[in-house]
Amino acid sequence: MLPMPTGTTRVAALLGYPATYSLSPVLHNTAYQHLGVDAVYVVFPTKTDHLAAAVESIRVLNMLGASITIPHKEAVGALCDEVTPVAQRLGAVNCIANVDGRLVGHNTDGSGFVRALQADLGFDPAGKRCVVLGAGGAAKAVIASLAASGADEVVVVNRSADRAREAALLAGDGGRVGVPEDAGSADLVVNATPVGMVGEWEERSPLDAAYFRSGQVVVDLIYKPERTVLLNDAERAGARVANGLGMLIHQAAEQIRIWSGKDAPVALMRSAVGE
Ligand code: NAP
Repeated sequence: MLPMPTGTTRVAALLGYPATYSLSPVLHNTAYQHLGVDAVYVVFPTKTDHLAAAVESIRVLNMLGASITIPHKEAVGALCDEVTPVAQRLGAVNCIANVDGRLVGHNTDGSGFVRALQADLGFDPAGKRCVVLGAGGAAKAVIASLAASGADEVVVVNRSADRAREAALLAGDGGRVGVPEDAGSADLVVNATPVGMVGEWEERSPLDAAYFRSGQVVVDLIYKPERTVLLNDAERAGARVANGLGMLIHQAAEQIRIWSGKDAPVALMRSAVGE
């Protein structure tokens, strides 16, 4: 049971649409309760027409902050008073901190991804060859954070060449556009496309199983289903694998640290969402 809210309890919220099935309330409320943060986290399904009013409410209602999800990550930066350099570079904000009425936009997706790699898989990207499948919002956060963590090379493999080129630029000198064959010699392969997720693409993999080998780390940002075709193929080839739950948990942990200054109980958060 969550503690009863009192007159001092602050609200944190997820702004997105539809957003109703998000795991974020469980992750955040578990952490607040454990850490003694006097706040409750709720979902406010927010349509695009209401985004500006919803963001202004963070200030007006003295909310703790807000997480931002689909479809607002790109648009919301313009509504903040300040945006961090990382979020600015990615052109996407997934977290707003209310700093005494000043709204600061952050992006915790990339740092959450790298933290999950390090904490959950013991994988340090420094000096490693990485292949990222996809060039959308999640891929860009992963690409930029791998490069910032010292990856030797970040190869972007994507259906649309122009988006691949744009995303590869985020990795600076170590970034380039590649082909699926590049995965064969990579230390790390990341799926940042929706291919394999529950629904019409569930039986498909974005990469041929022939490219996986033992010694590789393979991460699928999808976490529904828990095991995608890609992860099953990679595991059969002897690779170490993880789904996207680690990224989701660690990006939430980073938001909690930004809002409260406290280290989130990631193991507890993981067991609260059932793993
Ligand atoms: P997005 O911005 O829409 O980008 C999707 C990317 O996948 C694009 O590069 C797109 O290629 C590619 N793609 C889409 N359909 C494809 C297909 N049928 N075949 C090949 N490539 C295809 O989406 P996103 O927000 O980056 O999300 C991508 C995935 O990451 C989703 O599965 C999402 O659930 C997951 N995600 C997980 C977390 C987490 O915390 N674990 C966080 C964010 C996202 P084009 O450029 O050619 O269109």
